[in-house]
Amino acid sequence: MGLQVYLDGRLVEKEDAKVSVFDHGLLYGDGVFEGIRSYNGKVFELEAHIRRLYDSAKGIRLTIPLAPPAMIEAIHATLKANNLRDAYIRLVVTRGAGYLGLSPTKTSNPQVIIITDQIEMYPPEVYDRGLEIITCTTIRNHPNALSARIKSLNYLNNILAKIEAMDAGVLEAIMLNHEGFVAECTGDNVFIVRDGRLETPPTAAGILEGVTRAVVMELGRARGIEVIEKNLTRYDLYIADECFLTGTAAEVIPVTKIDGRTIGQGSAGPITRDLIAAFHDRTRNHNG
Ligand code: PMP
Repeated sequence: MGLQVYLDGRLVEKEDAKVSVFDHGLLYGDGVFEGIRSYNGKVFELEAHIRRLYDSAKGIRLTIPLAPPAMIEAIHATLKANNLRDAYIRLVVTRGAGYLGLSPTKTSNPQVIIITDQIEMYPPEVYDRGLEIITCTTIRNHPNALSARIKSLNYLNNILAKIEAMDAGVLEAIMLNHEGFVAECTGDNVFIVRDGRLETPPTAAGILEGVTRAVVMELGRARGIEVIEKNLTRYDLYIADECFLTGTAAEVIPVTKIDGRTIGQGSAGPITRDLIAAFHDRTRNHNG
């Protein structure tokens, strides 16, 4: 048996996991999603991800046809069916199929999709050497256009930024917001270290409230490190002692060059290394 995908209430073979071409998820990016990890058979920060998924759905006035406990059960069933202990889990909820027209009231049958698969990560040496990234010209969505707190199926804002990164020959790009402050990367949140303090943009800067970001802030505070949420400029990035990104897929990854400028000593700094180790520890010893 090949990879089993949860679709609309049942497990189907990957090849049979198909949705309608009239689904507004496809036609308009009308839907929400989550990216989650399971480590050693346990789903990491599941409650926080489920909460964000249902909040995102509420934000676009989409009623998810499964209640959270049934969603959690479906996730575990999908992992079990694929015999996966360390996996990347993609939850997708679409608006459902409708007519060729924007109105979400003319759609029916929102699709709940759960894909569990192996995770593709950055090569291990990058966690030592650090990433080279850029700040890009594409700004993050204005919060009053489409809140970045909604993890919607419309990722074009991030994809345009990703294309800029690729054109520059790097793997990630930092987007600024409409006010010129640092927002986030295409799929990761941003932190800097300055004088032993951790600094990261606040939610109001127009960012996704990253689950990994919250865990890292908590780990930092537990180690006696002051953690502050404040608006950062490009200049703050350039003069940072250390910089790193956080995200479900990348975990905690150092950044050692931004826009051609070397950050700190040009390799992963001591606080970043400490937080990478603490995060690994947490993923090995978590209870969900
Ligand atoms: N920002 C964006 C735009 C993202 O897509 C992600 C990945 N979901 C993140 C930040 C990091 O969030 P998390 O730690 O919850 O994966």
